Amino acid sequence: MAPPPHQRALLLFPLIFLLLLLLAPPRADAWGKEGHIMVCKIAEKYLSEKAAAAVQALLPESAGGELSTVCPWADEVRWHYHWSSPLHYANTPQVCNFKYSRDCHNSRGEKGMCVVGAINNYTEQLYSYGQKTSYNLTESLMFLAHFVGDVHQPLHVGYEEDEGGNTIIVHWYRRKTNLHHVWDVSIIDTAIKDFYNRSMDTMVEALKMNLTGGWSDDITHWENCKNKWATCANE
Ligand SMILES: [Zn+2]
Repeated sequence: MAPPPHQRALLLFPLIFLLLLLLAPPRADAWGKEGHIMVCKIAEKYLSEKAAAAVQALLPESAGGELSTVCPWADEVRWHYHWSSPLHYANTPQVCNFKYSRDCHNSRGEKGMCVVGAINNYTEQLYSYGQKTSYNLTESLMFLAHFVGDVHQPLHVGYEEDEGGNTIIVHWYRRKTNLHHVWDVSIIDTAIKDFYNRSMDTMVEALKMNLTGGWSDDITHWENCKNKWATCANE
């Protein structure tokens, strides 16, 4: 028997809501799942023996021993851990440079509440590995692995005015979307589909082959920068 009209209307609400979600221009704020997984799959290979052992010890059981499986986690908890939402990016006042003291804050002006501050913070927490600590180092690791990915998405350090490209509407092939989403998801999706036979692993292998020694000269600078923080962010 069909439900009475008022119940039918109630049943429609979730459907309408779902449709609205699907029709709304995507407003992602982070590499999509694939981006984060690929960043971590590549990074995993470069861990020192000591770091790899610590990662194995800290990973939750659900990760099955693979760091990459937990790398999208920070996006999944950003609405539950409301405070963590501003930690995925940093905004600059329409200038192409980043100043920690000027730019690393949340909308309430709390200092350090940006992606660079988060990387510093979770790196510092992880230094307490092996000692008595009140931090949840499993979460610290999952946050750090995610935010290092985010900070390398060019529009995660962007202009405040256009919300890191979220308000710039563009077409990716025939699909209407926004510039931030193109970087987060569209480029990666299209590349996997068109160049790597729909296989993320093939793309990861290809990216690994393309890693060169460029920037390797910077390592000494990173290791010895003035503030000795993880990110070497100035000021
Ligand atoms: Zn993110």
